[in-house]
Amino acid sequence: MAMSLSRLTERTRLMRVALAAAHDGYFVFPLRPNGKAPALHGESRCPGLGVCSAVHQGWEQRASRNPEQIRQWWTARSYNVGISTGPSGLLVIDLDDARGDTPPPQWAGTRGGQDVLARLADAANQPYPGDTYTVATATGGRHLYFRAPADPVLRSTVGKLGWRIDTRGVGGYVVAAGSVRPEGRYQVVQDLPVAPLPQWLVTALTPPPPPEPVERALPAKRASAYVAAIVASETDAVAHATTGTRRNTLLHAANTLGRLVGGGELDEHTARTELLAAAEIHIGHQDFTHVEAVRTVEDGLAWGINHPRRITAHNGPM
Ligand SMILES: [Zn+2]
Repeated sequence: MAMSLSRLTERTRLMRVALAAAHDGYFVFPLRPNGKAPALHGESRCPGLGVCSAVHQGWEQRASRNPEQIRQWWTARSYNVGISTGPSGLLVIDLDDARGDTPPPQWAGTRGGQDVLARLADAANQPYPGDTYTVATATGGRHLYFRAPADPVLRSTVGKLGWRIDTRGVGGYVVAAGSVRPEGRYQVVQDLPVAPLPQWLVTALTPPPPPEPVERALPAKRASAYVAAIVASETDAVAHATTGTRRNTLLHAANTLGRLVGGGELDEHTARTELLAAAEIHIGHQDFTHVEAVRTVEDGLAWGINHPRRITAHNGPM
């Protein structure tokens, strides 16, 4: 009796967390109880029914501000609360604690994302961007919430700003304050209004402009040798990446190969296979998982395909 009552209380508490976030204008969706993975079915398990009868709807499409939908979801279980950052107009800076890992030489002396962000702010002659709504994660990190600019569109990034700094924007989500993990609870540590993302961070996160349609056109034969050399060098860098640089190196390689896929220089299957084969050596080391490798490769390829790079001199109409 006591147990079912406490479960009911926990479920109600999390439902209120979700409803409050929606009331503040954020799009929410359920995460696994005590976890941070989405609880809505993924594309590989899509039943093709209901909301997915026409086409699969992922968590970003299904995240909702509708109280009826939220009550329905949280009536079922004690889900943690995910906030889909893209539709919510948020850009969240995710500062991870080093948790004992040695920083790469460039960031020697730092103890994680907070120190790295402080150095970046110093280097940019800007104050530390800490005057905003801030959540402490269950594992000692910090989530700094900002209002995303309308333009440019900022997608999520992994290690782009610096060591142990990720960002969650379009295509990303964060675990809301009030959610619980076995390690502890996500808690508001600064209940300030969400500040606009400072311009120096907008600039640092702005993707480079797409390249000219044809750059340095080479004859087809030399071009394919050139592409093969790029694939070899990027996958070699991934295979030899050291602790703490694995994700960044893999993301960079996936960006580079993705651009060649987008430009029609390399087929997507080859790019994915080569990247995952190179990353395999790292799986199981530190906290680098197969899921993380796949996600990094997919994110990197998707970005690259949107920023095509062409090497071959293409003849005739496109
Ligand atoms: Zn589906």
